[in-house]
Amino acid sequence: MLAMAAARLGLKTHIYSPEEDAPAFQVAAAHTIGAFDDKAALEKFARQCDVVTFEFENVPADCLAGMVPNPATLRITQDRFEEKSFVTSLGLKTAPFRKVDGPVEGAGILKTRRFGYDGKGQARVANGREIADALARFKGAPSILEGFVDFEFEASVIAARGRDGAFAAYDPPENLHGDHILRRSTVPSRLTPSQAEEAKAIARKIADALGYVGVLAVELFVTKDGLLVNEIAPRVHNSGHWTLEACVTSQFEQHIRAVAGWPLGDPWRHSDAVMENLIGDEAADWRTLAAKDGALHLYGKKDIRAGRKMGHVTYLKSRS
Ligand code: AMP
Repeated sequence: MLAMAAARLGLKTHIYSPEEDAPAFQVAAAHTIGAFDDKAALEKFARQCDVVTFEFENVPADCLAGMVPNPATLRITQDRFEEKSFVTSLGLKTAPFRKVDGPVEGAGILKTRRFGYDGKGQARVANGREIADALARFKGAPSILEGFVDFEFEASVIAARGRDGAFAAYDPPENLHGDHILRRSTVPSRLTPSQAEEAKAIARKIADALGYVGVLAVELFVTKDGLLVNEIAPRVHNSGHWTLEACVTSQFEQHIRAVAGWPLGDPWRHSDAVMENLIGDEAADWRTLAAKDGALHLYGKKDIRAGRKMGHVTYLKSRS
């Protein structure tokens, strides 16, 4: 989707991926297959590009040093403990959390500090025995224990910061998860106008503090006691896919503009939207999906696996 957005602006993309048959290869001018920790291959690739960016944050931060504008952002957001400590250092609220390096007493959600996404490396735990069991499943990986948040709903802010510090945020969507995986994003959300402004201000504070360039997403828990930051994603985000059809500038175009040093585009939303993910075999019956109303996106991923995001559909309604 980033490559397609770049093409519309007359820019060519060269994709670097460890996958033999990465979906982006279908729509890019060139590609390199290589491991994310192959520094020599990454450097050779970078020499062929004017600008390098990423859309997957588990690329080792050290390997991207000198290639992307802000490798420090990766270092912070790759580690849940570092990320939450950074967020609280800005005076923003998170769920209560603490480091877990071995068996302890407590309850909540145990999460590995690194390499977790879409519920991977997460376990709901009620006591010390369950923590010990979960740590064993995580092969002893350094973890954090988070208090369970009884939220009213979840939301996210998709925002961009340009090289010149310009900032633009989309209308924050409301997000519904199942098994820790995003199922649906809806705009407008149930946030009040002042909560929506606060959410955007949170994203701006984070982006400014990181000196961030590009699109980032801040996932939020909306609680009776206000907005809590759950996670920062230093990239375009699944909960922003609806911007493709519902906004003047999509999150993908916005990211390309930001990293290329262009002026940011207009994030204005002209339609209400509901984006539904197609997970696992939900995308298998593409004929039925293709016959429905809504903007269908199939990613061309080869292996259908339970829990894998295979595509999405965005349903639009002109703005009320
Ligand atoms: P994460 O990978 O941390 O973004 O978690 C994925 C999803 O799991 C979140 O969007 C929530 O739906 C749920 N979740 C994660 N952490 C908590 C928490 N501390 N309390 C309640 N639900 C959580």
